[in-house]
Amino acid sequence: MEVRRHDIVIVGGGGAGLRAAIAAGEQFPDLSIGVVSKLYPMRSHTVAAEGGAAGVIKPNDSIEQHISDVISGSDWLADQDVVEIFVNQAPRELVQLEHWGCPWSRMPDGSVAVRPFGGMKTERTWYAADKTGFHMLHTLFQTAMKYGNVVRYDENFAVQLLVHEGRCQGVAALDFRTGEVFPVVAPAVILCTGGGGRIFAFTTNAVAKTGDGMALAYRAGVPLKDMEFVQFHPTGLPDTGILITEAARGEGGILVNKDGYRYLQDYDLGKPVDVNDPEHPRKSTMELGPRDRLSQAFVKEQAKGGTIQGKFGDYVHLDLRHLGAKRIHERLPFIVELCHEYVGLDPVRDLIPVRPVVHYMMGGVHTDLDGATPLPGLYAAGECACASLNGANRLGSNSLTELLVFGARAARAAVEFGRQNSALATEALAAQAADQQRQIQERFSRRGSEPIARLRQELNEAMEVGAAIERDGEGLQQACNKVAELKARLQDLRLTDHSTTFNTELPAALELENMIDVAECVVQSALARTESRGAHQRRDFPKRDDQQFLKHSLAYRTDAEPRIEYCDVTITKWPPKERHYG
Ligand SMILES: Cc1cc2nc3c(=O)[nH]c(=O)nc-3n(C[C@H](O)[C@H](O)[C@H](O)COP(=O)(O)OP(=O)(O)OC[C@H]3O[C@@H](n4cnc5c(N)ncnc54)[C@H](O)[C@@H]3O)c2cc1C
Repeated sequence: MEVRRHDIVIVGGGGAGLRAAIAAGEQFPDLSIGVVSKLYPMRSHTVAAEGGAAGVIKPNDSIEQHISDVISGSDWLADQDVVEIFVNQAPRELVQLEHWGCPWSRMPDGSVAVRPFGGMKTERTWYAADKTGFHMLHTLFQTAMKYGNVVRYDENFAVQLLVHEGRCQGVAALDFRTGEVFPVVAPAVILCTGGGGRIFAFTTNAVAKTGDGMALAYRAGVPLKDMEFVQFHPTGLPDTGILITEAARGEGGILVNKDGYRYLQDYDLGKPVDVNDPEHPRKSTMELGPRDRLSQAFVKEQAKGGTIQGKFGDYVHLDLRHLGAKRIHERLPFIVELCHEYVGLDPVRDLIPVRPVVHYMMGGVHTDLDGATPLPGLYAAGECACASLNGANRLGSNSLTELLVFGARAARAAVEFGRQNSALATEALAAQAADQQRQIQERFSRRGSEPIARLRQELNEAMEVGAAIERDGEGLQQACNKVAELKARLQDLRLTDHSTTFNTELPAALELENMIDVAECVVQSALARTESRGAHQRRDFPKRDDQQFLKHSLAYRTDAEPRIEYCDVTITKWPPKERHYG
């Protein structure tokens, strides 16, 4: 079995993975960098990001204000040292991206344009129309290609972390073309595998977002942190879950109920700003409250009978019409395209039907502020990681900046670790990869009775019902039972395609296993947290309980359900307070 050896291995070719590759290549041009990605890099979910990336740039803004917005947005569950590092490094990263060629939108005077975003008290979100992720990923991809020492393993699926004598020393990767599993080894590995929104039925997330990196780390004994915090974005298209970016509200869009009434004014999110105000939409309005509160307001409005019943569930309307055709076409061309293609309407003239949709996981692989996990040699960055920037609720547009700041930091720390621990147990690692190949072959040549799609659908339904915007102990317990049942039924999985060349059933089966592990951590962590905080709202425990739960949860793998432990939140200068957006 051929062993591919590098100085550093990055799993994932999305925003975080490519930023990490550039940071490593820049620092040491002779370093060999392996990038293993199950997708071609440009198909990574970062490409779908629409609204923008946050970073202080304007004179009316300040580092202190951004820090304060993130901490209160997180419902005080963010680590404050991490937030400080992030906010301070954010502008530099965004300027750096500009120098690499990212076409940020501009003001008429040539300065960078920023737009308001949810939960941020002033406008600080840089954007490239409403295709920000597309332009950022292109910029990162072309810049990473400058470094000849980046070796890409596209369409290769990481199936296992290779750990020897307590140190992570590579991954076993499955090559889609051949069905062969081979070892890619290095003294340091960075997981940049993105989120896992696909454990839910109704999500903005691409099909590939199945929490693979989280599951790989979890199986290697690394805890998953704060997994109960799942972000519901308030505005997705009711049928497909396609995102209608927060930028639509940042530009001045408003949310109205079935009677055309701006219902958010009834939910402690402030009073409506006159949309004909000449300063509008530069002013933050209640539509720009944080995502957790807006999604929760939808549920309450639904209970009051204010929503509209539709074929795909209840919805409300997003109204952009007052912005006028020019502004809509200039600032939100992708929204026009999506509305036209997927719901057959024109936001210049029509109301857009929207409802809350699963969007982002605040939780992930437990890391410190340099992306280091408790397993020596293993690092993580981007959406798969939880450095504790976002706490109980992420503010929109922080994630794109997060993957830049922490992708680069993780790479620098990983390179340093690798230089000090360069010895690799190559033979033992190759033996582990060979064993993994045998296990995969053995498991998937079995002719069981459970189709992949059925298990996935049952998982999605259980999560949708049990781990929704509002949860309670009984519903979560049922979801836990269901996930445990599905885990057992995995043993009897049925694969109908037994070929080795581009067998698409095989990764689907591997992703299902990963999703079940991730879902188990979500529901078990949610059951254990008997309080309401940020995106985790318990009907049976409606209050925040700082006495018991101003803590991060850590889910550890065991042979039965995960063991849930807790660790402290780092509070530096901003003591916990009540959150107010009125
Ligand atoms: C529709 C949408 C719009 C968004 N808009 C915004 C926005 O405007 N602003 C903002 O801040 N955030 C936004 N977000 C969130 C943000 O885009 C993501 O959190 C971020 O892009 C994730 O980047 P990443 O590099 O961590 O992961 P991804 O970009 O998802 O990349 C993951 C990579 O990991 C690889 N991978 C995964 N599993 C494996 C495996 N087993 N083996 C090998 N490779 C693997 C994939 O091939 C891929 O290359 C949006 C998200 C969505 C879904």
